[in-house]
Amino acid sequence: MTDDTAEQYPDPACNICGKAPGVEFYIKQTDICPHCESRERHRCVQDAMLNRGLAAALDLPGKTVLACHLIAVEQKIFGKSARFINFDARPIKGLDMQMDITEMGQIGTASMDGLIAIHVLNHVRDDRRALDEVKRVLKPGGFFLSTVGYDFRTPTREVTNQSGDYGAEALEKHSVGTFRTYHPDEYETMLNDWFPTTRFEGRDVLNGAAHRIFLSRRV
Ligand SMILES: [Zn+2]
Repeated sequence: MTDDTAEQYPDPACNICGKAPGVEFYIKQTDICPHCESRERHRCVQDAMLNRGLAAALDLPGKTVLACHLIAVEQKIFGKSARFINFDARPIKGLDMQMDITEMGQIGTASMDGLIAIHVLNHVRDDRRALDEVKRVLKPGGFFLSTVGYDFRTPTREVTNQSGDYGAEALEKHSVGTFRTYHPDEYETMLNDWFPTTRFEGRDVLNGAAHRIFLSRRV
């Protein structure tokens, strides 16, 4: 093998941690970066931030933003220029608040500059009630950035094993489970019933997959 081959087929680097994931990543057919634990959807959001105008559209510096349980790698994507209030319906150490996205009574009406929910609404029993609450807490002009688990091949469908991802206690005590897989067009149509929504299509630099990212705006 010559250097030419290496140049022709360079190892792509993860766009979050900057490291090439190595051959194991491809052999195992996982989507998890072994260095920063980012998944495909995270690298797609990062791509949208860096290359497709999402960072400019969010304009985070100085804003106060509710974040529905941003994990470490997601916090890395959005940085520290905004004041994030990180919350979850479950009691989780290190987060700022325990709060259900469908009952955000602790948050004043029209008080937030934005709300970020990465892969959240498919884990919320009453997604429409969540959207009512998101709309209530946002200031006019405030943004709602969301991604969800989706599948192009079928209409939005209910998941039968609701406690499969988070366990029985999360489901019974906090209504946190896996409730549905959306069809992406149906999800976007639903969002548009609450807010005008634009779509960003992020690309995963590692595996070439695309993921839709939805940016809604409170009018
Ligand atoms: Zn990485």
